[in-house]
Amino acid sequence: MNKLAVGNIKMNIISKIERDNYLKILRDKLKGKTFEETSIIICPPAVHLEYFSEKIKKGNIFWGIQNAHWENSGSYTGEISPAMAKEMGADFEIIGHSERRSNFGETNDMVNKKIFSAFKNNLIPIMCIGENIDERKSGETKKVVLNQILEGLKDLTKSKVSKMIIAYEPVWSIGTGETPRGEEIMGVRILIQKILADQFGLTIKQMPKILYGGSVDYKNAREVCLSAGMDGVLVGGESLYPDSFIKIAEILEDKI
Ligand code: PEP
Repeated sequence: MNKLAVGNIKMNIISKIERDNYLKILRDKLKGKTFEETSIIICPPAVHLEYFSEKIKKGNIFWGIQNAHWENSGSYTGEISPAMAKEMGADFEIIGHSERRSNFGETNDMVNKKIFSAFKNNLIPIMCIGENIDERKSGETKKVVLNQILEGLKDLTKSKVSKMIIAYEPVWSIGTGETPRGEEIMGVRILIQKILADQFGLTIKQMPKILYGGSVDYKNAREVCLSAGMDGVLVGGESLYPDSFIKIAEILEDKI
């Protein structure tokens, strides 16, 4: 898998009618298309995971969970475990999304525990990192990214870091329609790689996939991903529209 198009549906798709409609459009949009260079990973709300993963089984389409606890079972009312997610068809787990960090107090330490437990359950972690608007304005992007990586990946082996996915998602860009310039994204990619080389001794070949996320649509996908040298995108809003989302995947595949 060379490029990744990850869709984060968030807390959307409420009714069974909406769910079936989403799947119908997705299936139609995938019809007759083969993705050789790009893998598509869709993270629906957990309640739809089993249904979605049972209904669409196609070579390059994978499923992920938007969040899971680090424990596999126990007295954690309202939580979903990574083992459950795996059983229901997930192969990926988004961890440390900025909305989890800001709305639910998810810390780097929790992110770290979740990464360990994702690996234990054969889920590939997609760790989200990125600065907020105040941190950007005060020139703290590097410091924030460094800290999130050092604490989030604490005690992980080189080989595990190499197998995971890191999504650089500047918080100020999520859902706002604003994106950094291609060179800025590329600069953060280089920074992440430098941190991983210094801390874990990773060579360029061993680097994890590094994605960009924040207001990605099919109009800017080429700039924020391909021109910026990224390995793919994490898409929120536009992943609610299978036609736009698949178009983004085709752009990554360099088909349109
Ligand atoms: C996200 O939630 O991870 C995200 C990138 O959202 P959006 O594409 O809507 O900015």
